[in-house]
Amino acid sequence: MRARQYMLELCGGAGNVLTHHKTIKDLEQYYSGISDNKDVKEFLKNMTTDKEGILHLFPWSGIINENFELSDSFRVPDPHTGQMRRLISQIPPKEEEMFRNMIRRVNTIVKTAEELDVRIMIDAEQTYFQPAISRITLEMMRKYNTKKAIVFNTYQCYLKDAFQEVTTDLEQAKRQNFYFGAKLVRGAYIEQERARAAALGYPDPTNPNFEATTEMYHKTLTECLRRIKNLKDSGEDAKKIGIMVASHNEDTVRFAIEKMKEIGILPEDKVICFGQLLGMCDYITFPLGQAGYSAYKYIPYGPVKEVLPYLSRRAQENKGVLKKIKKEKQLLRAEIVRRLLSGKLFYTPKGNYVPI
Ligand SMILES: Cc1cc2nc3c(=O)[nH]c(=O)nc-3n(C[C@H](O)[C@H](O)[C@H](O)COP(=O)(O)OP(=O)(O)OC[C@H]3O[C@@H](n4cnc5c(N)ncnc54)[C@H](O)[C@@H]3O)c2cc1C
Repeated sequence: MRARQYMLELCGGAGNVLTHHKTIKDLEQYYSGISDNKDVKEFLKNMTTDKEGILHLFPWSGIINENFELSDSFRVPDPHTGQMRRLISQIPPKEEEMFRNMIRRVNTIVKTAEELDVRIMIDAEQTYFQPAISRITLEMMRKYNTKKAIVFNTYQCYLKDAFQEVTTDLEQAKRQNFYFGAKLVRGAYIEQERARAAALGYPDPTNPNFEATTEMYHKTLTECLRRIKNLKDSGEDAKKIGIMVASHNEDTVRFAIEKMKEIGILPEDKVICFGQLLGMCDYITFPLGQAGYSAYKYIPYGPVKEVLPYLSRRAQENKGVLKKIKKEKQLLRAEIVRRLLSGKLFYTPKGNYVPI
């Protein structure tokens, strides 16, 4: 609330710093009455902007600095007195410690991914946690995605805000010159989202029906493809945007392939990849791989006592997906019969498995 109030004061009542294109000059003007104040001078000195000169108001990068106190990250001078004031409440030491530990672990994981030259995809959770996850992931992208997309954020297209979120983050990546990685999903927590919204009396954040979610998915993916094509056409590195189409939905996978063709993005460009869960929809994953697309299987990994509850939760949340197993079984049966009849029991597919 305090942050929003500050932003409203600075922007003159509406919008935010990005939409108003506020620059350091505007900020100096805002504090012109108390420009001699030592704290104000220090605050203005540390201010950074993106490559278009738009203000980067809060030191968000501080949140992934393992040696930085979260409570110190968001402090601004009062425009009348110059006294520094907190935009977030003081966090108890125990919580500060837990937050730092979490950041240290995330840094270790991402650094290891960088060393091994693999990508790391951060999952999306319920909307009441997601802003924090997304913010940390974006900061990790800014820090690590300087030469290629290593860190990927996840965007749930069942959310009414999905398109807006993706385009805002794409803009941020463009302005701050880092590689953007996104995993696009429909979203796994629709029942919890709706139940919580109804119980607490706030508007349902999810799309009204499945068709609206599909439309959101396809619109968001199209926007990413369009931007990749722009990068390609302007001679920039097309890999500045990397997308995983994480879906078991045949129409969505077909849509992605057709749009890639229509817009002019080739599988060899290695900017789009596909992902399905291990043991699910192999009839989608395998042909994609054989046709030269980067296709991945997601493998839940960990101690049995942790993985089994995870899988049973996924099964509960994705009852719809389980219906596809019926189709898969029919296809597997037909394939076994075909191989028996043709006398070719074993088959090694040849694909082009260079990752995106
Ligand atoms: C590789 C991979 C990674 C994933 N990572 C994440 C993640 O990080 N976070 C996450 O939340 N999920 C994640 N998922 C799960 C994903 O969000 C979906 O729940 C799951 O893939 C089913 O959707 P689908 O696109 O495969 O297609 P389908 O099986 O065709 O989609 C059916 C699902 O759409 C859902 N749906 C969406 N919108 C609506 C609506 N408005 N009304 C009714 N139903 C609706 C239903 O819940 C139903 O289960 C991941 C999936 C994969 C394959």
